[in-house]
Amino acid sequence: MSGLYIHIPFCRQSCIYCNFYFKNGRKHVAEYVDALLKEIELKLNKNSEAIQTLYFGGGTPSFLGNSELKTIFNAISEYVHPNDLKEVTLEANPDDMTASNLAEWKEMGIGRLSVGIQSFFDEHLKWMNRAHTAEEAEQALTFAQDLGFDLSLDLIFGIPGSSLEQHQFNMEKALSFNIQHLSCYGLTLEDKTPWKKLIKTKGYAKPDDEQGAEQFKLTMQYLKSRGWEQYEISNYCLPGKQAIHNSSYWKNTQYIGLGPSAHSYDGVNRCWNVADLNAYVEALNKGILPQECELLSDADKFNEYVMTALRTIWGIQIEEMKKRIDDITPTIERLEHYVSKGMLIKNEQSYVLTDRGKFYADALASDLFIA
Ligand code: SF4
Repeated sequence: MSGLYIHIPFCRQSCIYCNFYFKNGRKHVAEYVDALLKEIELKLNKNSEAIQTLYFGGGTPSFLGNSELKTIFNAISEYVHPNDLKEVTLEANPDDMTASNLAEWKEMGIGRLSVGIQSFFDEHLKWMNRAHTAEEAEQALTFAQDLGFDLSLDLIFGIPGSSLEQHQFNMEKALSFNIQHLSCYGLTLEDKTPWKKLIKTKGYAKPDDEQGAEQFKLTMQYLKSRGWEQYEISNYCLPGKQAIHNSSYWKNTQYIGLGPSAHSYDGVNRCWNVADLNAYVEALNKGILPQECELLSDADKFNEYVMTALRTIWGIQIEEMKKRIDDITPTIERLEHYVSKGMLIKNEQSYVLTDRGKFYADALASDLFIA
């Protein structure tokens, strides 16, 4: 199976914490769509593996006009058999989720929306420079649930100055809608973000690790108490409603990425498109794919597997490690060490993070990496 990711690199305005590749405004949309159609023709193959998931990510895919979205859909549909398709997701922001847009998206075949809510408090939305208000978010979700979309919401915790009660309210409010999936991300300070600059120039608050950890703990406890499954460190769902497309990343299966900065993986090579719209358009105008690729070594494949699998409910499988390297004895020793520290649980054929271990997942993964 293959997943197809389409990166739409346009946003209405810049959220202060964001380090994704995007441009503000719609000025270059037409050139982008022309180039994307060329990339579709060059990269997709009618005889390759069946495409089972489509994921429009960004940037803000919902910011694109519906006529452009339809053009992209039509071009892709030549390579996708409707019977193969299991999931079509559009990332959407509440300010774009008008009743008429939602109806058009539904007609195009979009069944699932991943909605960037982040918080139901206007003070948080303003601080993050989000383009919507809490009221708009509630209105958008009401429209979307009434139209029967599968809904996944993004929430952010660890916002400086936010309280545990506010975080609990955000989760309760999210669950008051008919949603099936929730991604809860801890706010992190990344390089080259407006937030980093604002700390220096305007004295913005830095992240508070202790507050972030408390809110992460509350997230796990609260959602578990409501019957939600934490199937990946930042992702929770109702039983059976795991995101199919995103799960393909976490299970190390193949996917194809289109658009500036998008990544692809065919099981052997990892490729990444240039994160620059001008360079992307120029290359495709010359009939060249704007990508670089690297052949993954056994160590790369092992490390990637460990990094992603460790974060999931399925954990690190002994058989999967053996497929990637010959001698797993030193890794098993390290894994057993973390079992003795209460950070991992050993099942018959796998090692899975405990709730305590989930606070240290990244450090634990890098300790398991091989050279
Ligand atoms: S809408 Fe999404 S991609 Fe755009 S700036 Fe905000 S977080 Fe980044």
